[in-house]
Amino acid sequence: MKRLFTMGEALIDFIPEEKGTKLKDVGGFEPQVGGAPANVAATHAILGGESFLLTQLGVDAFGDKILDTLEGAGVKTEYITRTQQANTGLAFVSLDDTGNRDFSFYRNPSADLLYHPSQIDGIEFSADDILHFCSVDLVESDMKLAHEAAIGKMKTAGGTIIFDPNIRLPLWEDKAAYQETVQSFIPMADIIKVSDEEIRFITGIEDEKKAISALFTGNVKVVIFTKGPDGSEVILKDNTMFSHPGYTVLTVDTTGAGDAFIGAVIHKLTESGSSPYSTLAETGREVLGFANAVGAMTTMKKGAISSIPDKHEVETFMGGLQ
Ligand code: ATP
Repeated sequence: MKRLFTMGEALIDFIPEEKGTKLKDVGGFEPQVGGAPANVAATHAILGGESFLLTQLGVDAFGDKILDTLEGAGVKTEYITRTQQANTGLAFVSLDDTGNRDFSFYRNPSADLLYHPSQIDGIEFSADDILHFCSVDLVESDMKLAHEAAIGKMKTAGGTIIFDPNIRLPLWEDKAAYQETVQSFIPMADIIKVSDEEIRFITGIEDEKKAISALFTGNVKVVIFTKGPDGSEVILKDNTMFSHPGYTVLTVDTTGAGDAFIGAVIHKLTESGSSPYSTLAETGREVLGFANAVGAMTTMKKGAISSIPDKHEVETFMGGLQ
């Protein structure tokens, strides 16, 4: 069975009880387990796949909550470690009237950033495996070094590497260093997932088409481009392109939509008997249709993991549209 390993932060998102209020004025928050790598691992597991999260939590109630939630979603937690040296990361969120977000992060550093490269030593990867990572945990830390170790090990094993930068500007004081860091990790990946909101920051290029082309450096063979309510595109190295317009739904909270989307893409890649590249070259539009459905459905409820649909719910949603 093809396995998914996601790497990076698992944290508690404090979601506001009301929309349309600035973060400083929010009166009450609801704790929800989040962090993009955790959301992606949970999506693949809820859809029926095998996923492992590589992270570290504090020895605190929020760490316990994350472990319980991930186990409840079916994520394999044997590579999640705990430390007394730092607390589990927290993120406070406000939502505008359309469900878009503003963040304030509490991680100075959080337990995930202390995850050491040696913690990768005991993990065996194979050519069928997929490693997915984001940029939030690429700040200068042991966790960044652990990413480099995991990427090197996955490459040696012949597996597939997916980088989903998931830009969170408030986390980096030095925006140029952030851009440089993201750009330095892009050539290490086989597949890049970016959104229309972040591609200009990542590449420094205004023109969208030119910016997408600029992502094809190093090992990159596929770019997956998401456009919020307007769906998504797959662009292959040979310039083949597929697009799907997405679905119109009543959006409540977009937290985790991109993570659910890429988790669903990965799910389709693991179900296929072919390589990820061939699967996207042969069935790109079908993969996007499924992933757009999962992404759209996730926006219909509050929270990230708690709003991920299972396969039956996705099939019912897609079937109801025909
Ligand atoms: P995130 O908000 O998690 O950071 P992202 O910016 O990475 O997401 P988006 O492009 O916003 O990615 O969304 C990913 C996918 O989720 C879209 O391609 C689409 O399929 C779905 N999606 C997101 N927002 C909406 C929406 N308002 N209505 C319908 N589908 C949506």
